[in-house]
Amino acid sequence: MSRYIYTFGGGKAEGGANQKNTLGGKGANLAEMANLGLPVPAGFTISTDCCNDYIKSGGQFPKGLDEEVDRAMAEVEKIMGMKYGDPDVPLLVSCRSGARQSMPGMMETVLNVGLCSKTLPGLIKQTNDEWFVYDAYRRLIMMYADVVMEKAEGIEPKEEADIKTQLEQIMYDRKKEKNYENDTDLTVDDLKALCDQFKERVQSVLGSEFPDDAQQQLWGAIGAVFKSWNGKRAVSYRRIERIPDEWGTACNVQSMVFGNIGQKSATGVAFTRNPATGENKFYGEWLPAAQGEDVVAGIRTPNPLSKEAKTTQNAHLPSLEESMPEVYKKLVEVRNILETHYKDMQDLEFTIQAGDLFMLQTRTGKRTGVAALNMAMDMRNEGLIDDKTVITRLNTTQLDEILHPLVDPAAEEKTRPVAEGLPAGPGGAAGQIVFTSEDAVQWHKAGKKVVLVRKETSPEDVEGMRAADAILTSQGGMTSHAALVARGWGKCCIVGAEGAKVDGPARKLKIDGKTYAEGDFLTLNGTKGLVYEGELPLIDATADPRMNDFMKIVDRHRTLAVRTNAETTKDVETALKFGAEGIGLFRTEHMFYGEGAQEPMFLLRRMIMSDSTEERRTALDDLYPFVKDDIKQVLELMHDKPVNIRLMDPPLHEFLPQAEETQKRFAEFLGIDVKTVAQRCQALHENNPMMGHRGVRLGVTYPEISEMQTRAIFEAAAELITEGKRPVPEIMIPFCCDVKELREMKALVEEVYQEVCDRMGVEAIEYKFGTMIETPRAALTSDEMAEASEFFSFGTNDLTQMTFGLSRDDIGGFRETYMDKGIFARDPFQTLDAHGMGQLITDSVEKGRRTKSDLKIGICGEHGGDADSVKYCFRNNFDYVSCSPYRLPIARLAAAQAEVE
Ligand code: PEP
Ligand code: MG
Repeated sequence: MSRYIYTFGGGKAEGGANQKNTLGGKGANLAEMANLGLPVPAGFTISTDCCNDYIKSGGQFPKGLDEEVDRAMAEVEKIMGMKYGDPDVPLLVSCRSGARQSMPGMMETVLNVGLCSKTLPGLIKQTNDEWFVYDAYRRLIMMYADVVMEKAEGIEPKEEADIKTQLEQIMYDRKKEKNYENDTDLTVDDLKALCDQFKERVQSVLGSEFPDDAQQQLWGAIGAVFKSWNGKRAVSYRRIERIPDEWGTACNVQSMVFGNIGQKSATGVAFTRNPATGENKFYGEWLPAAQGEDVVAGIRTPNPLSKEAKTTQNAHLPSLEESMPEVYKKLVEVRNILETHYKDMQDLEFTIQAGDLFMLQTRTGKRTGVAALNMAMDMRNEGLIDDKTVITRLNTTQLDEILHPLVDPAAEEKTRPVAEGLPAGPGGAAGQIVFTSEDAVQWHKAGKKVVLVRKETSPEDVEGMRAADAILTSQGGMTSHAALVARGWGKCCIVGAEGAKVDGPARKLKIDGKTYAEGDFLTLNGTKGLVYEGELPLIDATADPRMNDFMKIVDRHRTLAVRTNAETTKDVETALKFGAEGIGLFRTEHMFYGEGAQEPMFLLRRMIMSDSTEERRTALDDLYPFVKDDIKQVLELMHDKPVNIRLMDPPLHEFLPQAEETQKRFAEFLGIDVKTVAQRCQALHENNPMMGHRGVRLGVTYPEISEMQTRAIFEAAAELITEGKRPVPEIMIPFCCDVKELREMKALVEEVYQEVCDRMGVEAIEYKFGTMIETPRAALTSDEMAEASEFFSFGTNDLTQMTFGLSRDDIGGFRETYMDKGIFARDPFQTLDAHGMGQLITDSVEKGRRTKSDLKIGICGEHGGDADSVKYCFRNNFDYVSCSPYRLPIARLAAAQAEVE
């Protein structure tokens, strides 16, 4: 027979912290604490295997389990000096769930198990507190009826008709009748009468009696804990967190200790270090004469743990240090033992029963990004952890959090969000809302903080987006225009805000029936996608020198190179500051957006709308100096680092003047009538532009465009060489699906190269020629593609779009449903789909390198800044990842973590 039960207490345990799979997190850590000699109320853990067997057999306890329980209970009784079900010295127990991974509040717990007419008098004699005992009894009846007799039996009462609500109503009625304000005003007689009424109601509603037998209660509670693994809440939580159904929960049967027997008793929670700041100070809260739920439920304001942990809000309240100095000293010892042992910040639960301290739980504590950084560096300096561990102590979400101004977490805790959307651009921002790009620019100039609110954004909004402190859209996904641009700038942005309706012309935003007008304040948490009404305070967490030290450790453990996607000199400067080792994607078309882009944009439009090659060439000639200057600046800034310049990619129709007003101005500029402009726009319109006349197809049909761009690259490079610099350009061809396209481009590039070198008298320009892999066919024919390429760069935005047949811009309409149903575990535009699309990538890398062993391989889609995707690239032997400047530290950390892991 396999073993199901592991006891703990009295300075030893049969299990340990490394047995989370069998004992669950709670059980494993209780065992560990017992082994460390800490004061843990004795108990035993029934394993997750037992839960699985119980569920599999349709609710039958495995054979022999009763004997094991008896044996374990006897052990517990010996340690505690009490007996379960005994009339004189009755032991009460709690039955608590606890899975491998914490599933807060998703499963069930029953407290005070073992209280019945046989044991009540004994407990009263022992505690000398009749009120306390009957209060515990009425709590047991309520909890047991709710958890064991109703929920575990699968009874689904109508709303408000559940047994718990009914019993609460009985208690409420009595309090009202007697004019009591608090539960504590109830007398012993009231409690006794309530217990009788409760039992009657249980019998009449649920059709069976509340069991007046300690053994029956125990087995009922254990079964209910196991069944709660398949309770509704637990199942949905598992879907969201992707926790396998096979894990099961353990059941911890543990001696009850009471924090509510008089003023020498108390209960509390503590963190071995401050979880908000990381400060190495014992931090926590406690309540005298209370049970655990009272602290968590927030009904009473808890007291500070120590004198130094007092804040302005709770300075007037007594600390545990002052009220019970002896117990506090013991708790500090426990803190030191646990931190030295676990080598990480712990989150503790404790109870003080009549002056004796008991530890009920320890686990690794959740923390903010700032706290994670500070703790990791402090613990390293204290000699507690080594560099490799330091790297794993800050997850990439926490690092991202630190890199941006943040909404003050304290203020956020007290405020309810009014809307939720996708966290497209990180950090926090607060400002007055405006509805047009022009207003954003105007208001910004007037020194105001603004949030630009749009249905969705287009390239024409770029100046407003730049000027705004934050961007909020009601539509769009993580790779929508707004999201891409905002992320590139590290600007706070929320897209696809659910339930938000934007009425641009009326300058109104409606959320849940409430209307916000221009000038109203909103605060955005772009890291979490939360929108708040009003102006919440922000904090700046960057300037910490420990950040720099941390990143140095990270880089020492990293081999995967990191490059940046950058288009402006400002981006490049930011990227260099954040550790860019090259540019992985310079989208040439971006020079037509934003500040100072009006003239080149008009020239580009003239080129696009040309009627003949002749006309197009003239337009390109006029455009040329802008393009060359732009490229030269970036090559110069990056000096000897590779700069990957992608030739024109987007469908031309994206650049056409859409608004009537812009069409009019454009017509004036060209000296033609507005009707002709409108007609040409119409002619260039495509039904499916993302699969239309774009990418290399532009170069194939209008080679003069590619020629102009290539010439600009080589001339810029040649000029820099003459000036004594060392430019390293890479020319990248987008959206290919056949090597013949590449060959054509390669021939063109080589011809221009020779011509420029000869004309400018440069011997050679160090450059590379390569392709993006962003169509499935390019991936499938990678062996051929590699013949004409020195590098591949995976354009995973388009590759995802093409592989899934999902539009980057329209996924918003059904993403939530797909995520809720678990069809998509992750948004494939955010995290690379290793399972499906990964096959294309692995194959492509393998085939490419078979043709050319030194083929350089990188990624430049948005996934290049996603931690899991970076790790994927590392495992697939990529040379580099490329991401927007603000994601660079995240990519660096993820790359180092991939190696350490
Ligand atoms: C891609 O498709 O992944 C890519 C980087 O190109 P773009 O986003 O410009 O289409
Ligand atoms: Mg692309």
